[in-house]
Amino acid sequence: MSTSTAAGDAATGHTPSTPDGARAVLHGFGVGRGAVVGPVARAHPAPRADPEAPAPDDADAAVVRVEEAFATVAAALQARADAAGGTIAEVLGATAMMAGDPELIGGARTRVRGGTAPELAVERAVDEFVTTFRSLGGYFAERVTDLVSVRDRVVARLLGLPEPGVPALAEPSVVVADDLSPADTAALELDKVLGIVIEQGGPTGHTAIIAGQLGIPCVVQVVGASALEVGEVVAVDAAAGTITRDPDDDVRARVATRAAGLARLAEATGPGVTSDGHPVALLANIGTAEDAERAGDGVEGVGLFRTEVLFLGRTTAPTEDEQAATYGRALAALGGRKVVVRTLDAGADKPLAFVTRSGEENPALGVRGYRLVRTAEDLLRTQLRAIGRAAAETEGDPWVMAPMVATVEEAARFAAIAREEGVGTVGVMVEVPSAALRARDLLGEVDFISIGTNDLAQYTMATDRLLGELADLLDPWQPAVLDLVAAAAAAGVEAGKPVGVCGESASDPAMALALVGLGVTSLSMSPSAVPGVRFALSRHDVARCQEIAAAARAARTAGDARAAALALVEEDVREVLALA
Ligand code: PEP
Ligand code: MG
Repeated sequence: MSTSTAAGDAATGHTPSTPDGARAVLHGFGVGRGAVVGPVARAHPAPRADPEAPAPDDADAAVVRVEEAFATVAAALQARADAAGGTIAEVLGATAMMAGDPELIGGARTRVRGGTAPELAVERAVDEFVTTFRSLGGYFAERVTDLVSVRDRVVARLLGLPEPGVPALAEPSVVVADDLSPADTAALELDKVLGIVIEQGGPTGHTAIIAGQLGIPCVVQVVGASALEVGEVVAVDAAAGTITRDPDDDVRARVATRAAGLARLAEATGPGVTSDGHPVALLANIGTAEDAERAGDGVEGVGLFRTEVLFLGRTTAPTEDEQAATYGRALAALGGRKVVVRTLDAGADKPLAFVTRSGEENPALGVRGYRLVRTAEDLLRTQLRAIGRAAAETEGDPWVMAPMVATVEEAARFAAIAREEGVGTVGVMVEVPSAALRARDLLGEVDFISIGTNDLAQYTMATDRLLGELADLLDPWQPAVLDLVAAAAAAGVEAGKPVGVCGESASDPAMALALVGLGVTSLSMSPSAVPGVRFALSRHDVARCQEIAAAARAARTAGDARAAALALVEEDVREVLALA
């Protein structure tokens, strides 16, 4: 997934509908760079239970109806998960599991036995969970949409109403909704969905992730989207994060030019290279073996395999055999191309029942990522053995790296364990300021580093990466973040070792140029972002990339840094990619 940059978001997000000439323009957070024009279709609203609904005559029969409704919804979601693949299957599978959650169903059952109508009992039981999840914040708060989706489906079933979500589309349309659950998004008729506009949601929510994965232009948190009427024509521009009502010929022409330009870019599949022939590997971020199978020829390999996806939602770790099979599939899909496998990054925003400690006051600063080795070294060794086995079985080329490494001792220890377990190329992620500042020492112990700018921004700016309202502080153009990236990249240049970037910032074409100027050797991102970055690289030489980096670093604010960089980006690149 790529979102418009935080600087752009800060400038455009959450402003009310504003006139643009005679056109009303709504603003939100864009996901991807696409632009489309089309008529609005609306999702079926969620059903609401009547708060005055009478108690059931036969409580036992009502309990059975509730249990059946949950079971039917869970089975339908699981069937869709099985039919889908990759991230979508993971997301739908997680929602299906929620629909089968014994505590959730138990809460509804108890209420029915206490004299509450079945649909009201379901609503109240789920809403209690919603309140708890919201108060927990972070990963749990992001799952509220999944819970609500389960609630609405079960209530609709009990009331005999149509399933909430998007109805069958008569023509290619822009789907508009208050919120769209991941289940709704995954159920969309893709050949008829031009774009997605959501009033609520967040740029890191599941719906945005799925839309990004599917390459559908999407804008979330659009204030005023509820005013859009069925059938009215809108232009959706994900790069700008805008929705233009009743677009005139100029707006339509701009969208058509952009869409044609992006389609042309998507056809290119060659390696990343600057205009003067300097290679910069363009790699994919993946979470599953299916993602690897879908990554296609447009990428030179995988720069970040987030293996925790294989561990999420489970009560025990996957076995060595199971892991070896998954890693083997990913390596085989890449057919000898490089695959950087990140060892388990559990904790904080990615809690795992069987390793994450409960009760930490600051989980993002706690025992997470590589630090789990302190209490669960076996988990790491098993994973590394599985990666080594997968390499031997597929003749693949896995590199491994550890997340959240903060000291040279940790880097040295990780490298030793990885080599003992049979993995050849070993690196660490640079996500903590201490690692960036002392990257030279780290590179004395490992073969490569990969900069995770999502966490590096979080820890440099002391800002929770899941807090949309602080997105301006998380902006990777923040001068302090740029300084740390520069320090890490310089250490790589000095050591003559590869330095990748695998955070979201690598998918911003202007930032990608700055990173290359700083000495970064590979860029890893959602595969849908690769064509834009490849195009930007092809139109600038290394000297210009260095000028861009220097101009950005000379600025005092994130906004100024981005503006200074953009001023040096070729005009055709700015136009086709809508970089403003
Ligand atoms: C990062 O922190 O930039 C990164 C790539 O890792 P993740 O987003 O999975 O934490
Ligand atoms: Mg990270």
